[in-house]
Amino acid sequence: MSQISVRQEILALKAYVPGLSIAEIQQKYNLAQVIKMASNENPLGMPPLAREAVQRHADMGFRYPQGGNPRLVEALAKRHGLDPRRVVVGNGSDEIIDLLIRILAEPGVHNLVCFEPCFSIYPIQGRISGVEVRRHPLNADFSFDFDGLLSKVDANTRLVFITTPDNPTGYCPPRDEVAQLAAKLAQIAPACLLVIDEAYMDFAESEPDSSLLASGELPENTAFMRTFSKSFGLAGMRVGYGILPPSLADYCWRARLPFSVNILAEEAALAALEDTTFYSFTMQTVRQGRNALTVGLTALGCNVWPSAANFILFSLPENTLSAHDCFETLLRKGIIIRPLNSYNLPGHLRVSIGNEAENRTFLLAMDEILLQNRHAEASAANRECK
Ligand SMILES: *Cc1c(COP(=O)(O)O)cnc(C)c1O
Repeated sequence: MSQISVRQEILALKAYVPGLSIAEIQQKYNLAQVIKMASNENPLGMPPLAREAVQRHADMGFRYPQGGNPRLVEALAKRHGLDPRRVVVGNGSDEIIDLLIRILAEPGVHNLVCFEPCFSIYPIQGRISGVEVRRHPLNADFSFDFDGLLSKVDANTRLVFITTPDNPTGYCPPRDEVAQLAAKLAQIAPACLLVIDEAYMDFAESEPDSSLLASGELPENTAFMRTFSKSFGLAGMRVGYGILPPSLADYCWRARLPFSVNILAEEAALAALEDTTFYSFTMQTVRQGRNALTVGLTALGCNVWPSAANFILFSLPENTLSAHDCFETLLRKGIIIRPLNSYNLPGHLRVSIGNEAENRTFLLAMDEILLQNRHAEASAANRECK
């Protein structure tokens, strides 16, 4: 080992655990076809207009993008009916989350507050920045205890993170409760930013009832995160954005790497915003699929949590195989879902809503797995009797 010295926070770091890739599983189990329902990507693929835009602009790959991505900023401001000075685009909303932590929290001094479990980027990027991470548990039914969350806030708290609808649980609190959280936080910690991550908000049953951003009432202490990775079908292009108080947006632009949203990603995002046919079909597919998976898994005896997102959280019936074994068995059948060990929920599984055929294949596989397991249990019990 060389003499190069690594910061303390990095030595102790556990990396983000992504969903497995299709190529990995094809190779490992020698499978011709693999279905991925692990990372909440769009089940319909890439929007056709975005694919065309990427092809059309492919030969611009040698150019730097326009600094500040003004066309995309303008289009997003228009979409949300807001001042463009509020909008910051990034290499996925992950980049904006990371930026906000680095801009607002002094290493070794300040802290951030989030739920346990929650989207793992908040605590990971917090630790990388040398910022104390304080967690408050979700309620037993995975709803949010906002007063409990606020009890972790003190004069050194600079960010509070919530995800609504939540990942990995699918829970979506009513808009009024979120507005109250923002108001209470402003009272007890005026220097603290509330980050409301609405990555899955488009999928909520009623966006106006659930989204503070859609309501147009933007509290002064609040930032909203949105992404092109889910409803817009561009996870691999890496585009997300924040809607921030204008002064904070200005600091983000100063601190952001100048070209983090590349020229093809910007064109793809602009085209995806125009592809309303794709977007509507996505909404329809996800809502129908969410119902089908909820009904199907419930019929198999699984416990399914209500979800406002494009995935569902479930646990297996009692006295059957473990969540881990179920995940592994599905892999061998060419279906990737998400185990939740890295979220500290080893007994639960998360499955992204697929297209109609994928959902059917997944439910059939689950039926087989649970049935086989019942047979195995029954014959074991028989043997014990004899
Ligand atoms: C998927 C996801 C994001 C989006 O990440 P990108 O970097 O934009 O791909 C943000 N927050 C949560 C909670 C997510 O699940």
